[in-house]
Amino acid sequence: MVEYYLNFAGKSVIVTGASSGIGAATAIMFAEQRASVTLIGRNETKLNAVAKKLPNNATSLILKADVTTDAKKIIDETVNKFGKIDVLVNNAGFAKYGGLTDGKFLEAYDALMRTNMRAVAELTMLAVPHLAKTKGNIINTSSIAANSLPFDGRLLPYYVSKAALDHFTRGAAMEFAPKGIRVNSVNPGPVLTNFIENAGAAVNPDEIAEMTALKRFSTPEEIAELILYLASDKAQGMTGSLVVIDNGWLLRP
Ligand code: NDP
Repeated sequence: MVEYYLNFAGKSVIVTGASSGIGAATAIMFAEQRASVTLIGRNETKLNAVAKKLPNNATSLILKADVTTDAKKIIDETVNKFGKIDVLVNNAGFAKYGGLTDGKFLEAYDALMRTNMRAVAELTMLAVPHLAKTKGNIINTSSIAANSLPFDGRLLPYYVSKAALDHFTRGAAMEFAPKGIRVNSVNPGPVLTNFIENAGAAVNPDEIAEMTALKRFSTPEEIAELILYLASDKAQGMTGSLVVIDNGWLLRP
């Protein structure tokens, strides 16, 4: 449980990619702060395992859904169950290798843009009428992959998808400001989740930690705390902000 009390009582929050890692920690933390939470993921077993970690009195909707095909279902079922949407956390995402010279770039690019960017746009467009009513907000999970030079060319499609997401965050923030809707992103460095393994990367986590100034990974809970802060009224002056939380990764020469 976070030490400070942000209090999301009466708020309806959607977290995509809630079956694992950052999204799971975020969904649990919102529920601990008394939000009604819709947890989205494709893997029902993992979703149910996360659901068991929610506080006993939590109000939640566990929804097996793919963000690339089920955006309308995600929005409609949340509104049917909780009557409104206050916060949309677009967190579902992944990395996939595909270099410009190994013949795999376009396959990786299409898959990554579909999930990491297009699905975010679709969910955003569908959520906006509801967020306008609640003066709600959106948090996108980006990455320092959007900020740093593409040091591994085989990950270029991932870097591009997150760079696109950052510009989307800025544009959406400008467009929705007159409606009172804020849009921000968190841009983590290395976080201890299944992300690296799922990307099929044969890298030693210790080597990645060494690449940060602080020589460490973040926990998913550290990122979740930042997401909750951005979603709360304490961040009422923040929109269009891409908030880096990277253990000093970007300080690398
Ligand atoms: P995980 O692999 O642990 O979690 C990814 C989540 O995304 C899972 O819950 C997965 O659920 C979900 N997901 C992926 N594709 C879809 C889809 N099509 N529809 C619905 N859900 C989907 O990794 P993280 O928690 O680390 O990743 C979360 C976000 O953080 C991503 O956007 C990632 O790019 C970003 N990030 C991660 C970093 C890290 O070092 N871990 C660093 C910087 C950014 P399921 O499989 O059940 O569908």
